[in-house]
Amino acid sequence: MVVYLNGKFLAKAQAAISVDDRGFLFADGLYEVVRSYGGRLFQIDAHVRRMRDGLHALRISVPESFNLTAIARELLKQNDLEKSETTIYCQITRGAAPSRAHAFPATPVAPTIYVAASPFIPPDEKRKTGIAAVTVPDVRWSRCDLKTVGLLANCLAKQHALESGADEAVFVRDGVALEGSSCNLFIVKEETVVTNPKTNYILPGITRQVVLDLCRSLGIETREAPLFIDLLKAADEVFVTHTTGEIVPVVRINAREVAGGLPGPITRRLQAAFTENVRNNP
Ligand code: PMP
Repeated sequence: MVVYLNGKFLAKAQAAISVDDRGFLFADGLYEVVRSYGGRLFQIDAHVRRMRDGLHALRISVPESFNLTAIARELLKQNDLEKSETTIYCQITRGAAPSRAHAFPATPVAPTIYVAASPFIPPDEKRKTGIAAVTVPDVRWSRCDLKTVGLLANCLAKQHALESGADEAVFVRDGVALEGSSCNLFIVKEETVVTNPKTNYILPGITRQVVLDLCRSLGIETREAPLFIDLLKAADEVFVTHTTGEIVPVVRINAREVAGGLPGPITRRLQAAFTENVRNNP
């Protein structure tokens, strides 16, 4: 497998980063995950924009010449993945400082930039049958809008979900069900699709926006309002969205069935429209 590291394409086994890297020491960095469908990078401009915004917020500078889209295309080519389903992973950290100190290095260092493409097997079965979720207290920090590599709370939540016999964990803060450990959360109530508004407590998901736009084009009513836990319990349908899984129905929450334990009609309609959209608009 050929990967990209700091300006070079090289074999993954040869890719090495410093133990002084601030990504390793402080989780001082960001990442992105992009899907490609048969070589077409889905919503790449939106992913690039989110990453640029995140880098700006963290005050990490990347060279002018850094072009994620071009690198992703080259990785697909070099790894013979242009006809495959893949994910592109990109991680950018503040780089390796000469000594471990919380403050940014006094003399700026080059950021570490890593990009890799991997074959991806879509979760077709889960998309058809739906998943079970459990709620967990949101112990994350209050900049969940930044896609930082500091994902320990997300990892612990996901592991808790799996050990509880579920597939996904939903973070709850101040009575609001915010998002999953790696996905945004939607409900359907009386034919209206509702999701949390974009705040510092959720990631502004690319798939979330695609789904809201799809609803508008299908004439489905949408509302961006806090998903209070009582609303979640009373939902007609629940689904989650993310780049890898697209739209995944949630059919059980904390041992309680949602929508009779089956993916609901609006969720299925959106899934079909999403597939159509992916085919037609890379
Ligand atoms: N929320 C969190 C916490 C996530 O990790 C992700 C996936 N990275 C999402 C939402 C969904 O975002 P996207 O649709 O851009 O993949």
